[in-house]
Amino acid sequence: HGKLEKLEPEEEEPVTHGAQPIQIVLADQDDHMFELNAVALEKILMQEQLKDLNVVVLSVAGAFRKGKSFLLDFMLRYMYSQSWMGGNDEPLTGFSWRGGCERETTGIQAWSEVFVVEKEDGSKVAVLLIDTQGAFDSQSTIKDCATVFALSTMISSIQVYNLSQNIQEDDLQHLQLFTEYGRLAIEEVYEKPFQKLLFLIRDWCYPYEHKYGLAGGNRFLEHRLQVKQNQHEELQNVRKHIHSCFSSIGCFLLPHPGLKVATNPHFDGRLKDIDDEFKKELQNLVPLLLAPENLVEKDINGAKVTCRDLLEYFKAYIKIYQG
Ligand code: GDP
Ligand code: MG
Repeated sequence: HGKLEKLEPEEEEPVTHGAQPIQIVLADQDDHMFELNAVALEKILMQEQLKDLNVVVLSVAGAFRKGKSFLLDFMLRYMYSQSWMGGNDEPLTGFSWRGGCERETTGIQAWSEVFVVEKEDGSKVAVLLIDTQGAFDSQSTIKDCATVFALSTMISSIQVYNLSQNIQEDDLQHLQLFTEYGRLAIEEVYEKPFQKLLFLIRDWCYPYEHKYGLAGGNRFLEHRLQVKQNQHEELQNVRKHIHSCFSSIGCFLLPHPGLKVATNPHFDGRLKDIDDEFKKELQNLVPLLLAPENLVEKDINGAKVTCRDLLEYFKAYIKIYQG
């Protein structure tokens, strides 16, 4: 398993206590086969204090270079600290995100530290954060992307579908393909195979039509996913399919973070370089996903899943895609 190497953190980061992103699933660039780093995953999930806790899995998926890792870094800040937005001059660290447009590998990364959170009723849950990478630049990589998306949707309780600017018909078609790919893989399917899906629209530029945030997003999504009588059958089917796959669907509209984030090659995540409006919405978004009262435990066929179970599901699911 020489291909699966640990990603070294770029520099020592006191806040994250030496935790780091670990590549747990990797697509081979040449033969497009998927490999699970079961040893690393076991090390993460089978820790004594974690293995019997119910697990919450939050994944962020979507096309390459649309700010997924950037968002996850803020989620990490939230999980690590009360004053989670951080100081104005602290660079953002965590999942390796970077400027430029070079390609990254296709696969799934997990944050090595699983967070134990006490819910309102006193029960403890384990929170696992998942980052995915994929590029849609050729036929073979579309299949890889579908696999990454399907796998991450199957193992997550909250899938964030990260999109740029709008929900295009393409994005819905991709979602249909990806979820169909996942649904076929699960043998016994209950009514809805997947849990929570949040469309996250980055660089939203119509706040006068639909306000930033969840309420505006949900209204926009309702409009976008509406099945209409005079619609082409294909468009109707995509919409029905998406509704049939997830037990809950929502949408959040985020403003543009400002030109320094988007274009300055020296930008390193300092808050002072990020637009206020973006920070304000981010401060609503992250707790909406990760505050104790909002955590959704992973559930497969009506049963809560522990960290130990999740490891077994991972092993079973990856086999499906190893053909
Ligand atoms: P990923 O490939 O989806 O994980 O994307 P990254 O998190 O690596 O971010 C890619 C680039 O987009 C970086 O240069 C970020 O500074 C920038 N970025 C992050 N969030 C946003 C956003 O909401 N809008 C725009 N336009 N750029 C962003
Ligand atoms: Mg990334």
